[in-house]
Amino acid sequence: MIQSKLKQIFGYDSFRPLQEEIIQNVLRKQDSLVVMPTGSGKSLCYQLPALEFAGLTVVVSPLISLMEDQVMQLRALGVTAVFLNSTLDHHGYDWVADQLLAGSAKLLYAAPETLVQPQTLDLLAKCQVDCLTIDEAHCISEWGHDFRPEYRQLVALRRRFPDAVCLAVTATATERVRQDIKSSLAISAAHQFVASFNRENLMLSVEPKTDGLAQTIHFLQAHPDESGIIYCNTRKQVDFLAGELARRGWSVLPYHAGLDDATRRQNQQDFIRDDVPIMVATIAFGMGINKPNVRFILHYDLPKNLESYYQQIGRAGRDGLPSDCLLLFSYSDVQTINYFINQQDPSQQQGARARLEAMLGFVETAICRRRPLLNYFGEPYHTENCETCDNCTAEVGELVDLTIPAQKFLSCVKRTGELFGINHIIDVLRGSRSQKVLQRGHDKLSTYSIGLEFSKKEWQYLARQFVQQGLMTQDMEYGSLKLTPKAYAVFKGELVRGTLPDKPRAAPSATDFANYDQNLFQQLRQKRKALADAAGVPPYVIFSDRTLVEMATYFPQSRASFGELYGVGEAKLANFADDFLPLVQAYCAENGIEEVQKSAPTTVSKSSRTPGGRTYEVLNLYNNGRSLPELCQQYDVKRSTIVGHLWKAIQAGETLRESNLLAHSKLTPAQQQQALAAFAQHGTEYLRPVYVALNETVDYEELHLLRLHFVSQLSK
Ligand code: ADP
Ligand code: ZN
Repeated sequence: MIQSKLKQIFGYDSFRPLQEEIIQNVLRKQDSLVVMPTGSGKSLCYQLPALEFAGLTVVVSPLISLMEDQVMQLRALGVTAVFLNSTLDHHGYDWVADQLLAGSAKLLYAAPETLVQPQTLDLLAKCQVDCLTIDEAHCISEWGHDFRPEYRQLVALRRRFPDAVCLAVTATATERVRQDIKSSLAISAAHQFVASFNRENLMLSVEPKTDGLAQTIHFLQAHPDESGIIYCNTRKQVDFLAGELARRGWSVLPYHAGLDDATRRQNQQDFIRDDVPIMVATIAFGMGINKPNVRFILHYDLPKNLESYYQQIGRAGRDGLPSDCLLLFSYSDVQTINYFINQQDPSQQQGARARLEAMLGFVETAICRRRPLLNYFGEPYHTENCETCDNCTAEVGELVDLTIPAQKFLSCVKRTGELFGINHIIDVLRGSRSQKVLQRGHDKLSTYSIGLEFSKKEWQYLARQFVQQGLMTQDMEYGSLKLTPKAYAVFKGELVRGTLPDKPRAAPSATDFANYDQNLFQQLRQKRKALADAAGVPPYVIFSDRTLVEMATYFPQSRASFGELYGVGEAKLANFADDFLPLVQAYCAENGIEEVQKSAPTTVSKSSRTPGGRTYEVLNLYNNGRSLPELCQQYDVKRSTIVGHLWKAIQAGETLRESNLLAHSKLTPAQQQQALAAFAQHGTEYLRPVYVALNETVDYEELHLLRLHFVSQLSK
C-alpha cells in the first residue's frame, strides 16, 4: 500500500534508496535517525507515513521559509498540512488550532520556539500525535556546526509524546554529531539510516580561474534558460559580478548580507519563482531554499572547506536531473582564505588549515573527484570511473612530451630564487616589461623571454600540471613555487609527459539528458509560470521541470498517459491535466508528433539519445531524394520540424545526402557566410550564442537550417 500511495499521491514510480526501509521502520513505530544528503528525498520518509497514521505528524523545522514551502507543496498534492511559526497572527494561529482539533490536518510544521510555548503544548495535548519528526536534527548537538539552544528543549518535548514515533532527520552529521543525536533522543544504533553522500546527478568540475568573468559567461552560455547560483566569497565580488553580467544582458540578481531585508527577500522570491534565473550570491544564500530545478552551481571563488562546497553544490539538482557544478580555482584565493584563517582564534587555525588542505586535495586531484570528496565525509568510493566529473570524462588528451616547456618553467623558478608565484614566472618567460620584472632585474635572466610559444593562459595550464605532477610545490601562504627533487631529475633529462591546453571543457547541460522537444518544453514552462503567478506560488509547486521534460518526451495524448508522468498523482492530474494536456495535443497535431509510450520508469536518462523512428523515416526519405518542401508537405509540418529530425539524425552519427541546403535560405549569400562563420566560432550545440553574435537579426528558423548545412558539410 505504501507503494500505491507513492504513485497515487506523490506521482513517483519507485522509492529512492533507503526511503522504503525508513518508511517501514517509522510505520512500525521504531525511533530512527536518518542521515541523507540534500535532495535525496528525506521529506517523503515522514510525509508518506503521515498519510498512513490515524493521528498527526508534527515536523519541527528551524527554517520558516522551508516549512511554508513544504506546506504549499503538500497542499498542491491534496494533503492537508498546516504550519505554526512566528509569522502567524492571532487569526492564523486560531485557524490552525481549529484544523488540528478537528483532526483534519495530517501534518503540522512548527518552528521549535513556537512548539515549546505552553499554548502550543496545550493544543497538542488535545491531539493524537503519532509521529514527531525533527528536521535538521544536527542542531541538537553542540558538536555540530549549527547548534541551536532551542533544539535542546525538544528532548523534553519528545517525552511528552511517548506514543509518537520519533524521526530525526539531517543532511549533515559527523560521527560525533550522530552519536549525540542518538543519545539525546534515545535512538538505538539499529535504527540509524545513513545514505550515500554521492550525488550521482551532479557533474563536478574544476577549472583554473584565468579570466573569471569570461569563464562565467562561457559557462552561462552553456546553460541557456536554466536556473543556477553563482557563489562568490565576498559581497564586493557579488556586486561586481552581478553588475557585469547584468550589463551584458544576463538576467541576474545579487544576494548578500549587506542588502536590506526587503531586497533580499524580494531577490530570493524572484529566483524561486523563476522570474530571474541566476542568483549571484555569497554563502548567505541558499539555506532553506527548496527549489528543485537549480541546474548549475558556479563557484567563482574557492570555498574554504569541503563542507561548504558540498552544501552549496547540494542545492543543485534536487529533482534528480543532471546538474552542472563548476569551481573556478586560483591560488590567490588560497592566499585570501589563509589570510582570514590567520585572523581567527589560534585554537581554530589548525583545523581550518587542515580543512582548506582537504579542499585543495579535491581541487588538485587527477583522479575521480568523488573519491576525495566522499572520503572526506567518511564514505569510501571505489567506482573506477564515475562518468560525471571532469577527471573521469576528460578525453585522455593525447599525452605529449612536455619536457622542454617543463625545463624552461622550472629553471625560471629556480633562477628567480623560488620566491615567486605562477604569474610572475610566466611574465618573465614571456618577456614582460612590467615594473615587477624590471625592478628585480629579471629581464637580465637567461630565462627571460624564452617562453613566447605559449600564451599566458597556456602557461598557467601547463604550470598547474607541473604542480600536479609533483615537479614543484606551491606555498599556500604566499603562492610562491618551490622545486622538488623531481624537478632536478627533469633538468637532467627525465621525460615529462602531459596534455596541451587546447581542449575546451564540454559543459553538460540538462538539455543533454534526453531528446526532449525544446519548443514544447518552453511552451509548457510559460504555461506553468502563468498558472504559478496566478496562484501566487513558485512554479515547481505546480510541476517540477522533470514533469515538463517528460511531457516533452512522451507527448501524452490522454489523461491516462498524463497520469503516468513523473510527479503526477491524483491531485495534480485532477487540477492540471486540463491546462497542460490540450497544449501538448495541439503541439503534436501541429508538428505531426505521436505519443511515445512511457514504459520503464526511468526512460529519461543519458543513454536515451537515440532518435525515435520518425527521425529515421524522415532521414531515409530525405536521403532517397525527397526535398525539404516535399517532406514538409508530406508530414504537414513546419520546415523546422523536418530540419530538427535531420539534425537529430546527424547527432546520432548519420550523414545526409549531397544537396544544397542553402538554396532554401532566405538570407543573402553574405549573411549566410556570416552565420556560418558564427557557427564555426561558437559551435553548434546551442543556437543562442550564434543568434546573439548575429545581433539577433537572423531568426531561429533560419539558424536551424544553416546549422544543419554547417554540420552536414563538416561530416563530409
Ligand atoms: P531533502 O529533504 O532530502 O533535501 P526532498 O525531500 O526535498 O529532499 O526531495 C528532493 C526532491 O526529490 C523533491 O523534488 C522530491 O519531490 C523528489 N523525490 C523524493 N522522493 C522521490 C522518489 N521516490 N521518486 C522521485 N522523486 C522523489
Ligand atoms: Zn569521477
